[in-house]
Amino acid sequence: MSDIKMEEQPDGFEGPGFFASSIDAIVGLARKNSLWPLPFATSCCGIEFMATMASTYDIARFGAERPSFSPRQADVLLVMGTIAKKMGPVLRHVYEQMAEPKWVVAVGACASSGGIFDTYSVLQGIDRIIPVDVYVPGCPPRPEQIIQGLMRVQDLAATESVRRRDSPEYKALLANYKIGE
Ligand code: SF4
Repeated sequence: MSDIKMEEQPDGFEGPGFFASSIDAIVGLARKNSLWPLPFATSCCGIEFMATMASTYDIARFGAERPSFSPRQADVLLVMGTIAKKMGPVLRHVYEQMAEPKWVVAVGACASSGGIFDTYSVLQGIDRIIPVDVYVPGCPPRPEQIIQGLMRVQDLAATESVRRRDSPEYKALLANYKIGE
């Protein structure tokens, strides 16, 4: 049992019968370990995500076993596959329906950059229409890489201030994408 890694407690102060930490640290710890993914899969990278969900890789180990196909109950938008320009508005609509805080992962070459499809009909990266937090390289990425992408989102969630989404910088980012206007 020695190889089981327990979550470390946040920085804080403790004494007999009490432990005190910051709201940011406690909320970050909870968010980090309960990220609900929304798989937006259009092609082959989605198959890798199915493997990531299944028993061998098992993203339940990361608290993310509950895929949400309702954007309103999802925390992480995982975009997997070729996104045709016609699909762009649909993807953006799904993103806009997600509640804050939310994170986006571009899984694979197609979602990140259009991949091998350098053509008029394919979006050359989803960051042309929505902000992306983490890029996972590969065509396709292996399940280990998708898990690593999720773990990078966990790092972001764990260290994010609860005030970040109200910050001028974040509002400027959304305004840059003309989101919420
Ligand atoms: S990156 Fe490769 S594997 Fe993934 S959707 Fe594009 S073509 Fe398919």
